[in-house]
Amino acid sequence: MEQENSSTEPIIKTFKSREKHMCIKRGNLSLPECDTPGIPGTVTQRTCVFGGARIVLMPITDALHLVHGPIGCASCTWDIRGSKSSDSKLYKQGCSSDLKEKDIIFGGERKLYDSIIELHKLHDPGAIFVYATCVSGVIGDDIKSVCNEAERITSCRVIPVQSEGFQDHNKTKGHWIGCDALIDSVIGTSEMGVEDATPFDINILGEFNVAGDLWGIKPLLEYLGLNIISAITGDSKVEEIAKSHHAKLNIVQCQKSSNYLAKKMEKKYGIPSLKVNFFGIESTITSITEIVEFFDHEEMKIKANNLIENGLKNLDEKLREYKQRLNGKTVALYVGGNKAWSLVRAFEELGMNVIMSGTKNGIKEDYENIRDVVKEGTLIVDDANSTELMRLLKKYKPNLLISGAKEKYIALKLGVSFCDFNHDRISAFAGFKGFLEFAKEVDAAVSTSVWNIVKTELRQKSIKEDIHV
Ligand code: SF4
Repeated sequence: MEQENSSTEPIIKTFKSREKHMCIKRGNLSLPECDTPGIPGTVTQRTCVFGGARIVLMPITDALHLVHGPIGCASCTWDIRGSKSSDSKLYKQGCSSDLKEKDIIFGGERKLYDSIIELHKLHDPGAIFVYATCVSGVIGDDIKSVCNEAERITSCRVIPVQSEGFQDHNKTKGHWIGCDALIDSVIGTSEMGVEDATPFDINILGEFNVAGDLWGIKPLLEYLGLNIISAITGDSKVEEIAKSHHAKLNIVQCQKSSNYLAKKMEKKYGIPSLKVNFFGIESTITSITEIVEFFDHEEMKIKANNLIENGLKNLDEKLREYKQRLNGKTVALYVGGNKAWSLVRAFEELGMNVIMSGTKNGIKEDYENIRDVVKEGTLIVDDANSTELMRLLKKYKPNLLISGAKEKYIALKLGVSFCDFNHDRISAFAGFKGFLEFAKEVDAAVSTSVWNIVKTELRQKSIKEDIHV
């Protein structure tokens, strides 16, 4: 798809300093400027470092997540992930030390300590993660010492997460801080019985079971004969993660948040890792094939062939109707780093064209990944604010925007179909079955007849006008 762009002509009207954050893919040199602090007045939609850490750790289902800060930090991040649990619901509790003016003056350590002791008495959790926020950081509360003392008294893992929001402009740092809390205080703290160990023990890293995606991936891996010690962190328990250092392989689904952890586990425990992607047919097949190649086991190879054959059985037929309607339609992606490149092929499999891909917190490596998978002429965007996104949608008029809750109403008000692929979605899209669900939802969004009866800026014509009501 050809789109205009020259070095002198900005893609849309915006602040001068923001112009370089958008570019059109033209060969290998096409990377937008990224990973820079937001400019005052541009109203970035990013979340903070604390939010980044919480996203990684929150899906641990039998842990409590205690936010040491004013109540706002906890409330705006409560239940930020639509991560599902097959057992404990403890992680859904919103816990805060609720720092007030008096605590800011006299310190909040005592309040934090009392909160931990009370929470432990009430819930007896697998662990308590204690998150530092901007305010506890500024007043200098020593959460590490408080956690150590509380752990000594309760004999429960009480884990400090040094995630003060002001540490960086990019929540990616928060992902790394969350991973550090796991590698420093959880992984390697329990042993697996000899009888439980197998030659095919693995961990799934960076799969957070949003809408139940993990439950589309797990059966595929178990069919191959793999023993999943731990998913880090979707639908996981603290004890499972504590034993995850026994794995023979880490597979990494969300590379944005969890490559860091994979590298740390390789360094500390010698566990190799494989990047996988279970969104889309081709990516699912490639992931299965590469895992099997790693183990180089004859029986597993036969099972993998059966698995792929069964997964593909009747899939084309079931997809036909959706593909017919979606063929040639255009998509704009504005999603969390990993999805900005891992979804591109999945849309192409539906016959759709990705004309824009962007992310709020991308680092250079993320944009290199995007550049490598999108077609020439695709728009690549970094950290677009609401106004910029609106202008981009008006200019490029995609048939569909894939994004999250913050962007939903910008798209719908303009008349651009919208599909949630962030934390709020309710359908699982991973694996073969997930792909069918994905096609169904994308089709429902794009082909809905609602656009025949409403008039928006991008959809001038309405049925009302046609029938002169
Ligand atoms: S940690 Fe800081 S930036 Fe993050 S929500 Fe709390 S006050 Fe805001």
